[in-house]
Amino acid sequence: SSKLIDGKSIAKKVREEISSEIMKIKDSTGIVPGLAVILVGSRKDSQTYVRNKKNACEDVGIASYEVNLSEDCTEEEVINHISVFNDNSAVHGILVQLPLPRHMNEEKILNAVSIEKDVDGFHPLNIGRLAMQGRDPLFVPCTPKGCMELLRRYDIEIKGKRAVVIGRSNIVGMPTALLLQRENATVSIVHSYTKNPEEITRQADIVISAAGVANLVRGSWLKSGAVVIDVGINPVDDANNPRGYRLVGDVCFEEACNVASAITPVPGGVGPMTIAMLLSNTLSSVKRIHSLN
Ligand code: NAD
Repeated sequence: SSKLIDGKSIAKKVREEISSEIMKIKDSTGIVPGLAVILVGSRKDSQTYVRNKKNACEDVGIASYEVNLSEDCTEEEVINHISVFNDNSAVHGILVQLPLPRHMNEEKILNAVSIEKDVDGFHPLNIGRLAMQGRDPLFVPCTPKGCMELLRRYDIEIKGKRAVVIGRSNIVGMPTALLLQRENATVSIVHSYTKNPEEITRQADIVISAAGVANLVRGSWLKSGAVVIDVGINPVDDANNPRGYRLVGDVCFEEACNVASAITPVPGGVGPMTIAMLLSNTLSSVKRIHSLN
């Protein structure tokens, strides 16, 4: 059976590394890293994500600044808050929690974040640079970066390998495919219109699934010895769970364990890495802005 890729323990290690680096920066320069989070509306899931991010910041010594705006506020109000944070030298990272209310133009708002403080990596210019040969984004989106960090820390070779990414969203699938390509994998993208996805996926040495569909990837979709990174977080009914549901990935974990050489669990795989990478992006922002290193 497969080796478990333990995102929870890698994320803990990453956070400890970040924490000690921040401590050193504080001691030698007095600079305190700061992250600003803008939340629009009152979605329960978004509130939970924001709370988790704030707690993670506190743990490693990053000051967090939070703005909560009502669902019916204007685009202009959101952009005004972003501008104030852009000009605030105590703030090194700015993130706007997605999704935004439907009446807002997401691109316009993400465009307002200074690319120097775009720790989510969603600014069109950072995405554009990610897609271009010979150019480097200032920041890479956190979930894709977390997937790559897991591959790196488990010494999984990417160069020359066949990789399949399932899903092509702006926040996960698309940037993940670009990152794998930058590391010289041969990348295919499988999406909801792909015919014979299992046949394409079976060719992959590395499979990264971010479709948001429980049990999409069966054992029969995998080549023997493939490495599987499961980004999906999907609720499925579970009468034995006090909440009435439990969370599973996109991959049939038990089946995949008989075929894959290594696999991430859900929960405890990519999930914890996402927040760790947000902290990492905030730290690298501080270092760039203050020319530390
Ligand atoms: P999304 O809905 O924006 O995109 C899903 C993508 O999957 C689309 O490109 C679609 O074409 C593709 N897809 C959908 N059904 C498919 C199918 N049957 N076969 C092949 N492709 C299919 O979702 P997202 O925001 O990219 O998130 C994807 C999943 O990852 C969700 O379960 C989400 O909860 C999870 N997620 C996890 C983290 C984390 O930190 N671990 C972060 C973000 C998202």
